[in-house]
Amino acid sequence: MTGTLSEAELRTQFAHYQRLAHEIEAHNADTVTYLQALYARSRVEGDVWDELSAHRKAETSGVTGPLIKAAFRRFVGQLQGNRCCYCRRWLLNIAHAKPIEHILPRASYPHFSLYFWNLAVACFDCNQLKHDERWGAFPVVFAHYPKAVQFSEWYHPRFHRYTDHISFERRETNHVSNVTYIGHTPQGKHLCRELLYIVAARENLCRNNPSLAEAITTLQEFQEQHSEDDLPHLAAFRQSLNRSLQHQLDGSAVDSLTLKGTLPEKPIAKAKRRTKTATW
Ligand SMILES: [Zn+2]
Repeated sequence: MTGTLSEAELRTQFAHYQRLAHEIEAHNADTVTYLQALYARSRVEGDVWDELSAHRKAETSGVTGPLIKAAFRRFVGQLQGNRCCYCRRWLLNIAHAKPIEHILPRASYPHFSLYFWNLAVACFDCNQLKHDERWGAFPVVFAHYPKAVQFSEWYHPRFHRYTDHISFERRETNHVSNVTYIGHTPQGKHLCRELLYIVAARENLCRNNPSLAEAITTLQEFQEQHSEDDLPHLAAFRQSLNRSLQHQLDGSAVDSLTLKGTLPEKPIAKAKRRTKTATW
């Protein structure tokens, strides 16, 4: 058991995706051709994500941006067990509640905006929390996407096996609930330190305050049924609420040793060969 997917596993996964790039099998070939052309342009021109999102947006069938993204969510979501790529909470079956996450952020790495292995599916909270955080220090003008073995300091949801790097425990009774995350490797510890301890602290704070939990659930359910673009004030309110929660958490026990993950480091086996990754 290693913490990183092998070259063979990556190739199998990519071949599998090419058969499922569109919900309708008859549109698969055209979808892959479109994505290959757009990806080639992104390597030269930069960020094409908005162009993908807008592609034939008004159409309800054929090769359209929304249908391509829906198929991708379904494919990668299943690989992730229908859980968020970072916090492993269940993904709700609504597009706005499971945004496609750019692991190397678009803002810093526009030429990887459409790179197959740079995309995962996160929950709303993790996507918002990570935002444009870079975490790694890869040169911006990188000819090729970093290899799986180069992600040695932080967790990469498409290259690493979650359970080899992070474990979590969620306990729930009639009245209280509690979640903890523990990192087992340098990558897992980094994810706990930079993201998961905030997720856990927020969840513990909200779940143990019934009126706050109910109010936040109501907000989430309402937001998940509407487009983010249509609700700028609600999105701003949720960001303010998150800042307020963060303020409540600052200086509290959230950075306890348990939440930050302190198990002894378990080395992960290094890949023997450099991984060649397939693209669109
Ligand atoms: Zn999450």
